[in-house]
Amino acid sequence: MYQVKEAFYTLQGEGAQAGRASVFCRFSGCNLWSGREADRPMAKCTFCDTDFIGTNGINGGKFVTATALAEHIAALWPSQNDNATPYVVFTGGEPLLQLDAALIATLHSHGFEVAVETNGTLKPPPGIDWLCVSPKGSNPLAVTRGDELKLVYPQSGAPPEQFSRLGFRHFFLQPMDLAPLDQAKSTVAEATAYCMANPQWRLSLQMHKLAGFD
Ligand code: SF4
Repeated sequence: MYQVKEAFYTLQGEGAQAGRASVFCRFSGCNLWSGREADRPMAKCTFCDTDFIGTNGINGGKFVTATALAEHIAALWPSQNDNATPYVVFTGGEPLLQLDAALIATLHSHGFEVAVETNGTLKPPPGIDWLCVSPKGSNPLAVTRGDELKLVYPQSGAPPEQFSRLGFRHFFLQPMDLAPLDQAKSTVAEATAYCMANPQWRLSLQMHKLAGFD
């Protein structure tokens, strides 16, 4: 049984695939936080801004088989988009609690490329086409190679130098999204300065928030 909080068609807003048309599929649940505010102070990841509890979001639900969920995702891809490779991004919560080889294979049979955005603490199943790891604090990584490493910055217990020798093709710093605005501006300035001093790293701004799409 797959539990999906929400699924929708949009543009990827972050990292090396920013701007690419994508179906986002947000799985319910995370292994680093329950998602309840009362538990946040004790959580292993404390800065989450995502609602990943339950299955009540747009196009959310429970799917008994990989075929049922793959068809649900395929139906969100625009059928007139003949020349583009369909692209699905699994996120969460923590998608590797639920994503398995059967679902990936079924999506491949529908012509999809399969991307994952994970906190990196769980081993991924085989067949993922684009693996993005976003480390969270000092939680140990089970995934040390992949397509991109996207680090929210600054983050206590997770300095960029700790990750710069891992086996990723792209390294991104994404400023921590903080209110009030002046604080957010200062994290953008800090991340910009770090990338300029350490050119292995590139700046990732959350395009969907700047442009106002989901
Ligand atoms: S690992 Fe990701 S989904 Fe889980 S609590 Fe942290 S930011 Fe939220």
